[in-house]
Amino acid sequence: MGKTAVFPGSFDPFTIGHQSLIKRGLDIFDKIIIAVGINSQKKGFMPIEKRLELIKSVFQGEKRVEVKTFSNLTVDFCKENKARHILRGIRSSTDYEYEHSIAEANRLMSPEIETVFILALPEYTSLSSSVVREIISYKRDARKFLPAGINYEYFFNYNPDIIQ
Ligand code: ADP
Repeated sequence: MGKTAVFPGSFDPFTIGHQSLIKRGLDIFDKIIIAVGINSQKKGFMPIEKRLELIKSVFQGEKRVEVKTFSNLTVDFCKENKARHILRGIRSSTDYEYEHSIAEANRLMSPEIETVFILALPEYTSLSSSVVREIISYKRDARKFLPAGINYEYFFNYNPDIIQ
């Protein structure tokens, strides 16, 4: 059986920074499950179904990438999916601090699951979903930060009131 990693996140929306991480992760892992976290406390910008649809369209035809939602602990989701690795990206020292504490908590809960970090490429270190949401909220074109070939219609028809 090959190595499977879970790449958990909000992906609200999925950006070219996330895409780059997956591409590089596929050099390390045989399969990556992109796990979109459902947070009942947070409404988010895009509905979960839209986020899934967008990500699935990016990886159409890529058999080694699966896209799912999850609403339990990441380590439990990993076990359900027989994944022994969690993939996360690090853009900055702030990311590092945050990621370190999460990885440590996950390790204490499930020592058999290893978190693997990939450093963001320099061109993506300033890119985040929140930057994209900000650009869209001012009705500006954020396509250069979104994967090529997706249906951008949603982003043109968005409702600014749904941004928290
Ligand atoms: P979360 O809300 O869990 O932080 P995100 O969707 O914001 O979820 O991010 C998911 C993962 O992708 C995180 O590990 C984050 O550090 C990483 N990531 C986000 N943007 C980039 C980027 N531009 N380059 C590399 N990694 C990124």
